[in-house]
Amino acid sequence: MSAQYDVLIIGGGPAGLSAAYLCHKHGLSYLVLESGKAIFQGIANTYPEGKLVYASKPKDAPDPFMVDELRPPDKPVTVESYLQYVQHFVQHENLNVQTDVVFEDIKDERGGLSVITSKGSFKGKKAILSFGSNIPRELSVYGDAKMVAKNVEDASKYIGVKTLVIGGGNTAADVIINILKAKREVNDTQPVYWAHKAETFDVNKETAQRLGEEILLGGNIRLLPGATPRIGEVDEEGVDRLVIRINVFQQSDGVDLYHAMSFPMQNVIACIGSQGPLPIFDKLGVQTIACTAGVCKIANEGDRLVLLTSDFESTRKGVYVIGGAISPSYMRINEGSIAEEKHPNLIYTAINDAYRVVEAIRQKLG
Ligand SMILES: Cc1cc2nc3c(=O)[nH]c(=O)nc-3n(C[C@H](O)[C@H](O)[C@H](O)COP(=O)(O)OP(=O)(O)OC[C@H]3O[C@@H](n4cnc5c(N)ncnc54)[C@H](O)[C@@H]3O)c2cc1C
Repeated sequence: MSAQYDVLIIGGGPAGLSAAYLCHKHGLSYLVLESGKAIFQGIANTYPEGKLVYASKPKDAPDPFMVDELRPPDKPVTVESYLQYVQHFVQHENLNVQTDVVFEDIKDERGGLSVITSKGSFKGKKAILSFGSNIPRELSVYGDAKMVAKNVEDASKYIGVKTLVIGGGNTAADVIINILKAKREVNDTQPVYWAHKAETFDVNKETAQRLGEEILLGGNIRLLPGATPRIGEVDEEGVDRLVIRINVFQQSDGVDLYHAMSFPMQNVIACIGSQGPLPIFDKLGVQTIACTAGVCKIANEGDRLVLLTSDFESTRKGVYVIGGAISPSYMRINEGSIAEEKHPNLIYTAINDAYRVVEAIRQKLG
C-alpha cells in the first residue's frame, strides 16, 4: 500500500513551495505535485524574459513576508535570477517535489483523501490546491485527448514527424517557429500543420515577422484555417490519435461529407489559451457563490467565487485553496457571515496564504 502523506500540495509555485518548506520545517510529511518540467513553471511560462520581480506587498497588509527564504529581494532582480535562486533553495533544502505530474481529481477515502494525477494516485490527510490562476484549456473533443501537449519544452522531439499545432495566436506561432527552427537545423522537410477554428490567425507584428523569416528560410508550414478538433481515439495499432475536421461539404440530401486528418496525439500541441480554475472547482465539488448586484466590490455581478473559511479550507473537508487560484477575490466564511475578501495576485499573498494554511493544518493534525 502506498504511503499516506500529511499534506499533498498541488502546484510548485510560490504558494505550493512555501507550503512545502513550512511542512518540511515542522516535520509534516508532504509531497509537491507539479505539472511542469520544473518548479515555478507557472512563473517561467508567463513572465517575459528579463522581467524584474518585485517584492510587492498590498498597502494595507499588516504582516511581513512569512517565508523570508522565498520572497523576492527588495532590490528587484530578473525573473531568471529569482528562478535560479529558488531552484538552488529547493535543492539545498531537499524539498520533496515530483515534476511532470498533472493533477486531475480528488476522491475521499477512509482517513483522508486520494489525489488522482496523470502519474497515478497519492494518499494524503490534507490537500492544498496551489495551482495558480492559469489553467491550460483542454481540447473539447469526443473521447480522450489528455496526451496532447500544451506547449513545447523540447522542439527536437518533433523532428522527422508531421506535427499539428492548434491555436490561432502568438503562443501557437511561437511554438511553430521553435519547431521549424529545430527542423531546419537538421534539414527535416516534414511539415508543421497549423490549425485554427477561425478563418484568420491573429498574431502580433513581431511574431509574424519571425514566422515569416522561418518560412523564407525554408520552413514547411501548412495552414488549416476553419479546422476543428473532433475526436480522440485509439487506432487498431493502439496509437492514441486526434481527428481534426478541416472541411465540411453539406449535401442537399442531408448527408454531409467531411475532410479530416488524423495525427498521433504525441505529435499534437494545443496552444488554446488558459482559463481560471472554476472548472476544476466544479469538478471537485468545491462550492462557489455567484456575486449578485451590490454584493461584490472586486468581482463583477455573475462571477462565481470560491467559498473558503478564514484558514482557506474549502467546502470539501481537508481541501485548502491558496495563492493565485483564489485571486483577485474569494468568498470568506467568518463567524456565520459570508463576504467577498480581496486577494491580490502577488507572490506575497501566495507565500502568506501558505503560512496560514500550514499553521491551521498543524493544529488540526496535532
Ligand atoms: C507577467 C507577470 C508578472 C508578475 N510580476 C510579479 C511581481 O513582480 N511581483 C509579485 O509579487 N507578483 C507578480 N506577479 C504575480 C505572481 O507571479 C503570482 O501572484 C504568483 O506566481 C502566484 O503564485 P501561485 O503559487 O499561487 O501560482 P503559480 O505561480 O501560477 O504556480 C502554480 C503552479 O502550479 C502548477 N500547476 C498548474 N496546474 C497544475 C496541475 N493541474 N497539476 C499540477 N500542477 C499544476 C503550475 O505549473 C505552476 O508551477 C506577476 C504575474 C505575471 C503574470
